[in-house]
Amino acid sequence: MAGPSQMSPCAACKFLRRKCTPDCLFAPYFPPDQPQKFANVHKIFGASNITKLLHDLPLSQREDAVNSLAYEADARVKDPVYGCVGAISVLQQQVAHLQAELAIAHAELTRIHTTTVPPLQDDHENPAVLSVAMSSRPLVSQALASYAGLKPDSMR
Ligand SMILES: [Zn+2]
Repeated sequence: MAGPSQMSPCAACKFLRRKCTPDCLFAPYFPPDQPQKFANVHKIFGASNITKLLHDLPLSQREDAVNSLAYEADARVKDPVYGCVGAISVLQQQVAHLQAELAIAHAELTRIHTTTVPPLQDDHENPAVLSVAMSSRPLVSQALASYAGLKPDSMR
């Protein structure tokens, strides 16, 4: 048992009921006041896997690794089926929804610009006018096609 002069063990060593040494691999990342952080990470990934992972990483990247493991473990504990993939999926849906809204807003902007801005000499440099020219291309080619269809008669 720990002597009265010893500092309190890190959350990992306390959870695993082992002596926390001064060179404890977990101590910098699992402070005693955050017991749930280690409990979740241990439940999902296992202490021995975390040990191996931290050993293979340079010291400068260990804190980020522990924090991402803690985030993933926390999400997996809350949502055993999807874990953080569930959160990613929700965010991807939001991105798709916002991109669709943005496209609608862009289309509306283009419509407003082309109905209020008179055609200028350098209108080929105006992206709004250009995109309308592009979108009206089927009409232009239709007109050309009907012109071509009439051509033989009008030529004679
Ligand atoms: Zn420890």
